[in-house]
Amino acid sequence: MKILLVMPAIKPNASLYEKILLKLTMWSSITLQQLSALTDDKHEVKIIDENYEKIRYDGNYDLVAISTFTSTAFRAYEIADRFRGKGIKVVLGGYHPTALPGEAKQHADAVVIGEAEGVWQALLEDAEKDNLKPFYVSNPVSGEEIISPVENKYFSVVKGVEATRGCIHKCNFCAISNSLIGCKFRKKPIERVIKEIEDLKCKSFVFYDSSLTIDVKYTKELFKRLKELNKNFACFGNANVLARDEELLKLAYDAGCVAWAVGFESVLQGTLNSIGKRNRVDDYEKVVKKVNEYGMALIASFVFGFDNDTENVFNETLAAIHKWNVDSIGVNILTPFPGTPLFRQLDNEDRILTKNWSKYDLYHVVHLPKRMTPEKLYNGVKMLAENFFSFSNILKKIFGKKFDFITRASLSYHLFTSRAVYKAVFKEKEEIVSKENLCKAIIRI
Ligand code: SF4
Repeated sequence: MKILLVMPAIKPNASLYEKILLKLTMWSSITLQQLSALTDDKHEVKIIDENYEKIRYDGNYDLVAISTFTSTAFRAYEIADRFRGKGIKVVLGGYHPTALPGEAKQHADAVVIGEAEGVWQALLEDAEKDNLKPFYVSNPVSGEEIISPVENKYFSVVKGVEATRGCIHKCNFCAISNSLIGCKFRKKPIERVIKEIEDLKCKSFVFYDSSLTIDVKYTKELFKRLKELNKNFACFGNANVLARDEELLKLAYDAGCVAWAVGFESVLQGTLNSIGKRNRVDDYEKVVKKVNEYGMALIASFVFGFDNDTENVFNETLAAIHKWNVDSIGVNILTPFPGTPLFRQLDNEDRILTKNWSKYDLYHVVHLPKRMTPEKLYNGVKMLAENFFSFSNILKKIFGKKFDFITRASLSYHLFTSRAVYKAVFKEKEEIVSKENLCKAIIRI
């Protein structure tokens, strides 16, 4: 069969500036490359990532498979409808179709629920016989079965490697751990991960894993092996582990780690407790200090719009991140992704303002906050990003600590690209809620 694998554009109508910014900041995808690796050589596979290349609808394909997350779902459906209009069979998969298979099925001949690894061969056999089933349900595969991707043909500044998949924590807003794709923690054999990193044609990369602090024994072994490769990387970890395990921090630095990205989520302990995050706010200052002591930068990410949050939370967060001397931050608006307990709760409470999935990109208010208006939430996050990523603060962050050259360069890249991204996403006055929803907001607050 002639098979086309498609990744829909994050921003289909992006301006030239937005396209350049996307190319500079977007992490290279491994999803379609894994699907390609899974496909038997007897088939001909073509990959189109719409963020880099226009989709041509005149190809003579037997099957089109589209991977989508929530914010690209509508674009995925448009692409699917166009191919189906030409009589070509379409398969949809990814986080969004896994959460809402019934919705996805309206635009596809078959929907993969869960990971492709578990069902892809069977699906292709059925497609060859023109006998696709409507749904293919895949329970999480083992670490050994997680496929290594083929090389990504598109240029991207940030290349990624997946050593583990899934997360054992169950934060109520998390689209990863509350999905059939990420609900179980698995580890790929270390030898294979090392081989993938060796094969990367670049010196720096990012571990895409949700957290490299879940199985610390595995990670330490991986870091010991990584030391031989003379590469640099950034990775995600949990604050409660990083605050205590100095051996892990030393091994990480020796292996070439330049930065840890850590989900602080909130400066309010009550919020962390309510969302099921096992962190202690009291640990945060220590985490920053410890990670810095071992020569690495700490990037803390925060989410705003939880039920505990009032409009004071933005100034409280700014004061805390300056006091803790965090090196860089990520800021997100709370987004109830379908499939999460948060989505179910807010839907039951009639607090979802829109189901226009294209707005579910972490930069739009799509739910009714409990203790502030949607506008206050949007403007508070915007103010915080503007304040932290001011030129004077960026320079302070770059030169304020004793980092080696590569850490300083990586931190500078993160700070400047984050500034550009936040300026672009918060650039215009957002129409936050429709008139009807605004009334609903006013009545409730
Ligand atoms: S720790 Fe991170 S990846 Fe794990 S459930 Fe919480 S938010 Fe998701």
